[in-house]
Order: sequence, then C-alpha cells, then structure tokens
Amino acid sequence: MSKQIEDVIEKVKQKNPGEVEFHQAVTEVLHSLEPAIEKHPEFERYKILERLVEPERVVMFKVAWLDDKQEIHVNRGYRIQFNSAIGPYKGGLRFHPSVNLSILKFLGFEQTFKNSLTGLAMGGAKGGSDFDPKGKSETEIMHFCQAFMAELWRFIGPDTDVPAGDIGVGGREIGYMFGQYRKVQNTFTGVLTGKGVDWGGSYIRPEATGYGTTYFAEQMLKARGETIKGKIVAISGSGNVAQYAVQKVNQLGGKVVTVSDSDGSIYDPDGVVGKKFDFFLDLKQKREGRIKEYADEFGVEYMPKQRPWSIKCDIAMPCATQNEIDKDDAQTLLDNGVMAVIEGANMPSTIEATNIFIEGGVSFGPGKAANAGGVACSGLEMAQNSQRVRWSPKEVDQRLHDIMEDIHQATYETASKYDSKSASSKIKNYVIGANIFGFEKVARAMIAQGIV
Ligand code: NDP
Repeated sequence: MSKQIEDVIEKVKQKNPGEVEFHQAVTEVLHSLEPAIEKHPEFERYKILERLVEPERVVMFKVAWLDDKQEIHVNRGYRIQFNSAIGPYKGGLRFHPSVNLSILKFLGFEQTFKNSLTGLAMGGAKGGSDFDPKGKSETEIMHFCQAFMAELWRFIGPDTDVPAGDIGVGGREIGYMFGQYRKVQNTFTGVLTGKGVDWGGSYIRPEATGYGTTYFAEQMLKARGETIKGKIVAISGSGNVAQYAVQKVNQLGGKVVTVSDSDGSIYDPDGVVGKKFDFFLDLKQKREGRIKEYADEFGVEYMPKQRPWSIKCDIAMPCATQNEIDKDDAQTLLDNGVMAVIEGANMPSTIEATNIFIEGGVSFGPGKAANAGGVACSGLEMAQNSQRVRWSPKEVDQRLHDIMEDIHQATYETASKYDSKSASSKIKNYVIGANIFGFEKVARAMIAQGIV
C-alpha cells in the first residue's frame, strides 16, 4: 500500500481516537483508491485524500424534550456535513441508541461517494440522534422530532443541506420534522426528502432503496449470465430497505427465505411471499411487531438472537445494519455456495468478510453502489420540488431503474479499467469500481474549486 495512503489512514486514527467505524470506512475506501492515486499524481499534489477525510462541518447539539409523564430527557443530536463539492449536502438522519460521532462520520464519508455515483448533484452528509424511538408514544415521537428540528433548522436548507430518513426515521418522523421546519422558517420548501406524496414527496421513495438494491443485484447477475428468477435469497432486517427488497425479489421470481430483526431471524423455506408477505408488511409497518410473530403465525423456524447467514442461499442481501456479516458469517455463506452478496444496508460486511467474498469469487455489491437507489430517489424528489411537479410512480420507478443500471455500468467499467483481475473476469471487483468512480468525480470538483 502506498505510503501516502497509509499516512492518511494513520492520521485519521490519531485525530479521531476511538472512532472505529470511521477508521474502518476510511481504511476500506482508501485502500481501494490506490490505482487511481497512482494514475493521477495531481490528487496527491492537491492533498485530495487529506481534505476528503476531514468533514467540512460537524454540528453537535442538545435535544431536550418532555415525555408523556412530563419527565425531561436529554439526547444528543448531530449533523455531519462531510463534503459539498458536487452539490448540497444530502444524507439520512438516524435515530437509534447506538448513534455516535464515529458511526455518523463513517456514514457521511460513505455518502459522499454514494451520492457521486448516482450522477445527481448531491454532496455527502449524515445525522441523527441517540434517541431510541422504540416503545415511545406518538406524542413523544412528535415532541422529540420537533425538539430535534428546533436546533437543526439553522444548519440546513433546500440549497444547503437536505436530510432524509434512515434507521428509526421514516415518513412519520420526516413529517413531524418538516412541520417544525416550516413553522420556524415560515417557508414551504423541499428541505427534507421522504415527505408524504400529498405534501411534496415523491412516489416510490419508500420503496426506492429496497427496489434499487434488487435492480443492482439483477444487473450484477446479468453481467455473469444469470437472473434472480429461481434463486434462493437470504435477506436480513425487516425495516424499510428489507421490506421492499423482499417485494422486488418476489416480483422478479426469486424466493426470499429469511428476514430478521434485532431479536432474531425467521427461516421460511417456502418463501416470504403472497399472504405471508402481506402479513410481514402489516406486522412491520402497522403493528410495530417482532419478527418472531411471523414464525408463530406460519409455523416456520425462528432463530432467536441469530442472523440469517447460516441458511443456505444463492444470494445474500444484508439490509439491517453495519457489521452484521463478520468473517465467520462470510465463510459460512461461501461454504454454502453463495454466488452474490448485495448490500442493502450501509457497510454490513466487515473488511475481512468483504475480502472473503471477493477472493472467493462471489459477486459482491458494496452498499454505496447497491443501496444508492434511496438517495437517488431523494434526488428525484428534490428535482420535482424545485420544478413544483410530481412524476407518476411508473416514471419514478423507470428513472430509478435507469440510475441503478447506470451505476452498475459505471462501477463495472471502472473495475475493469483499474483492477487487472476484474479485467479478465466476468466477476468484477465492484468495491474498487464504486470507490474509484465516486471518488474521481468529487476529486476533480475539489481541484476545480480551489483550496476551500
Ligand atoms: P429501519 O429502521 O427501517 O430498519 C432497520 C432494520 O434493521 C430493522 O429490522 C432493525 O430491527 C434491524 N436492525 C437495526 N439495528 C440492528 C442491529 N444492531 N442488529 C440487528 N438488527 C438491527 O432502517 P432502514 O431499513 O431504513 O435501514 C437499514 C439499513 O439500510 C441501514 O444500514 C441504513 O443506513 C441503510 N440504508 C437505508 C436507506 C433508506 O432509504 N432507508 C438508504 C440507504 C441505506 P429492530 O426493528 O429490531 O431494531
């Protein structure tokens, strides 16, 4: 590995002690950029890597709110505005007790490359809070969202920073935050994406990440002469991304045999399909139920506290959270004959797991390419808001499909160009392809805009 890259990684570790997820993301990305750095000496001259790993702005703030018993709670809010070289900051808000600076910096850093890959004008950001929405009443959620936005509003705007949802932040939370922003700013503007379709939201936004990940999977398989039809698919998670990944895989003729939540996984060898899929969607969207209820209802196997990776499958789609596939899980999947792993979640595979897949000849679709459909559709929502128009579900879905096809093509070609192993194989190194393609555009924009 080049000395420059190792030095930058070392400095990131020294300057950001204890931020393990951020170190992991920087290490993974920078290692894969080596061929691009070698080819473009100007990147080193302009200190692009050093500038890229430092967020442009980190905002941390107090969120004090009252629960239903009039008890006061204090949470911490964050917005990491990572890089705006190619467009206004854009990235989700995550509400989860595990949220900390390290996790949001890793997500904001990754978002910069992901947004670049979409071909739309969006910079990278991420934010959220260590607030736990689980078990909170409707009014508590509303009070928290309002208190959060009462501080965040001064740092965002439709041409500055446009947050969206992520873990723990869906349409309901976006609604409460949008309402508060509108009130304090006295403007109706597209400052958040993931809005309701009646008040500026885009059709297909809820479906976009799960659909997009599946479209990416479809392209990866096509590149090696395969299709999703008839394949056994293991999916983790049961939230927004997982739900629509299951739906799209079903539509394309695959069979989804697992879904999970943080309590455990279910294994349904006949597939989460038809009435069983409807039950699953209702359980998770309307009743805030646990996945165990699916096993109870349909008499299938429930694996408490287990991730689904021990189940034999052709395709694995991790759609829950970061680092949910470790090296042992990766080895098990490989031993069981997995042919493709497509990341719906952000960084669900550890670096060791990723290497096992790539070295084992598995088609591996990294999250920043495979799950970019969510933010791409958010970009389409921003475009509709700016023009004050609304496109039909069919039109948005077609644009989403085209964007995912373009991302696949760009990452496929970039991998072939920069990675000698990829050049001679149908199975490309999409990690190299995605990181380099996303990076080069941001790097060129940073050089063009001077030292700022
Ligand atoms: P949701 O909150 O809707 O769902 C998250 C799912 O993952 C739930 O089933 C949850 O289970 C499970 N989960 C969360 N944390 C853990 C954990 N520590 N261990 C085990 N299971 C866990 O989130 P999304 O579906 O929106 O997001 C899922 C992933 O996709 C995240 O990595 C997110 O960053 C990424 N992503 C999301 C996009 C979007 O548009 N929503 C866009 C691009 C990426 P439980 O309910 O029990 O907590």
